[in-house]
Amino acid sequence: MFKTLQNKTVLVTGGAGFIGSNLCEALLNIGSTVVCLDNFATGHKKNIAPFLSLKNFKLIEGDIRDLKTCQEACLGVDFVLHQAALGSVPRSIEDPVTSNDVNISGFLNMLVAARDNDVKRFVYAASSSTYGDSESLPKVEEVIGKPLSPYAITKYVNELYADNFKRTYDLDTIGLRYFNVFGRRQDPNGAYAAVIPKFVIQFMNYESPTINGDGTFSRDFTYIDNVVQMNLLAITTENDEALNTVYNTAVGDRTTITSMAEDLRNFLSEYDSKIAEVAIKHGPNRKGDIPHSLASIEKAKKKLNYNPSHTFKAGLKEAVSWYWEHLQNS
Ligand code: NAD
Repeated sequence: MFKTLQNKTVLVTGGAGFIGSNLCEALLNIGSTVVCLDNFATGHKKNIAPFLSLKNFKLIEGDIRDLKTCQEACLGVDFVLHQAALGSVPRSIEDPVTSNDVNISGFLNMLVAARDNDVKRFVYAASSSTYGDSESLPKVEEVIGKPLSPYAITKYVNELYADNFKRTYDLDTIGLRYFNVFGRRQDPNGAYAAVIPKFVIQFMNYESPTINGDGTFSRDFTYIDNVVQMNLLAITTENDEALNTVYNTAVGDRTTITSMAEDLRNFLSEYDSKIAEVAIKHGPNRKGDIPHSLASIEKAKKKLNYNPSHTFKAGLKEAVSWYWEHLQNS
């Protein structure tokens, strides 16, 4: 599968991050030439360390807020997988200006650079946060609400710009609205760590993780392999009708935060039985959080032939096994 990518050059921005490094790895396995642009704001050298010696891998250490850097990165590139951004709703609430600079101005720079270098297709990380205060479930791409955070605004503006670059400059784009992605290499550390890796490291240290709220909020937690599949489908699809739109990138199933935490504790207890005794705590609800999130994946199935390989539990089991192997001494 994806053989057409064998002699293609793909630029992965944010390639040293969680999702980006998994995309770099998948593309290198296929035989593509990969250019990784990253400023290591939240990504890590260790995520791409095994690729640095490969002759079909090139690292550009630079910032998407600099148009010249984006232009240089897009030289001779067939496809762009744009992942670089400052993630996290709370981060954007604390510092909306920097999130706006990176996620909107940086995004615009990348679109301009892709346009100027005749990139064939620009696939970008959009977000389920764009559904905002819409209460309808499951989330279908065409029905969105008002954004609940500066981060959500940035991701929605990305979609507006992408749509406009098709209309104005005929640049083909696809936006992938990721729903709570998790899996190998997701950073468990830092103030803005995502809930799954944060809870993993806490359980491993016998510390009680704290659920924001009563734990009944639910998420369509999506394993990284499903996200990689969507990105590869998006750059290879030959269906013209699949282009210049956005897709939910999810499993189409939801799990409450309580149930996720309990599954995590059960899986980790298979490695260390003492973890089964670690209690789960509760704190106040967090600003900007959507109560429930469940995607319809019908559009991606129909137009891109998407077929998620991992359910939430199958993904969680693999993620736990990876963290157990890699985080033992942290
Ligand atoms: P991540 O923080 O691991 O990766 C982001 C990468 O972008 C990092 O390597 C970081 O160093 C790089 N970066 C940040 N600012 C940059 C800049 N100015 N110039 C160059 N590089 C820069 O996060 P992730 O979870 O892998 O997220 C990847 C993308 O997916 C982001 O656009 C994020 O908003 C989006 N997304 C993620 C999720 C999720 O659940 N993880 C959900 C929805 C959307």
